[in-house]
Amino acid sequence: MKFPAFANVHSHAFQYAIAGLTECASSKSDSFWTWRKKMYQAVHDFNPDSLKACATQLYQRMLANGYTAVGEFHYLHHQPNGKAYKNITAMSEAIIEAAESTGIKLTLLPVLYTYSNFDQQEISEQQKPFYNDTASYINLMDHLVSLCSKLDNIRLGIAFHSLRACSIKQITEVLKWRQKTLPNCPVHIHISEQNQEVNDCQQVTSLKPIEYLYENVSVDHNWTLIHATHSNQDELKLIANSQAIVGLCPSTEANLGDGLFPLKEFINLGGRFAIGSDSQVSLKPLSEIQLLEYGQRLITQSRSVCVTEEVPHPGFLLWQECSSNGFNSLQAKQDFIEINISKEFNDYSQQYLADLLVFTDKIQ
Ligand SMILES: [Zn+2]
Repeated sequence: MKFPAFANVHSHAFQYAIAGLTECASSKSDSFWTWRKKMYQAVHDFNPDSLKACATQLYQRMLANGYTAVGEFHYLHHQPNGKAYKNITAMSEAIIEAAESTGIKLTLLPVLYTYSNFDQQEISEQQKPFYNDTASYINLMDHLVSLCSKLDNIRLGIAFHSLRACSIKQITEVLKWRQKTLPNCPVHIHISEQNQEVNDCQQVTSLKPIEYLYENVSVDHNWTLIHATHSNQDELKLIANSQAIVGLCPSTEANLGDGLFPLKEFINLGGRFAIGSDSQVSLKPLSEIQLLEYGQRLITQSRSVCVTEEVPHPGFLLWQECSSNGFNSLQAKQDFIEINISKEFNDYSQQYLADLLVFTDKIQ
């Protein structure tokens, strides 16, 4: 039986190396920020060869689980000591080669990462492998445009790590470059993932990150906002009206203790959303959509939350939305794949999926 495949809109391939290895409490108050220190340590194990090996294994597992396209939010550009490789696209090429060898559709999203916080604070020693200023980022992109123009199955977009790591001036300059060189290509950005990030932004700009972005930049349907966890009703309206896609990463957001995106309200506003595996703690898209629905049930203390009048089944709605918006986010053609139903039953053995299968005739 054929089902819509999933597009994984948000992946950091190198983080696969630490998935599952960060579950021991590192202090009395373990948090996203203590996890981030461990992630920085993992960076030291990577060069183009090890990144290619890691990404190859990761993309194989994604394909086996129903993802046929991936958006690689790629910010590990340099050597562990921060020095650029002689070939500045070496790490990007490792990702491209991994995708080509596995057959997954890749949208490469090289990331601009310049500062460590909102008031343009200098990056830390550990963040140096990620660093580019606007000029070196555009130079990297120019090289990649030329490289990718010769490749099938590889799309190129741009990414801003976050409003912590990029200034509005930089974003504007890079968008001007995009207009000339890659008009309408995908644009991805991490936003409002952690409360601390929201508070820091408000302190410096007096606006929350999503408000600050929309106040300064023209955001449209080619944009994907990753996480957007801490969005209020006004921010949800801004996103929904712009038709930007929210890239939700349910297992990572749960694993890192980010919080829960108000998905029900966003669906009511006609908002578009997709899923990503982000830190790679789960590579199963069906588990991700189940977690989306269950998270909403827990905060609303109700059942069958992610539904509309036209689509009363949450599994069906989430599957359809995440698949079609996911491929749109990556500007890749939607795939349909065979799924072995009996195997899925064994894996999940939950009424949720059993019930979902009743709707499969509508999916086809
Ligand atoms: Zn991320």
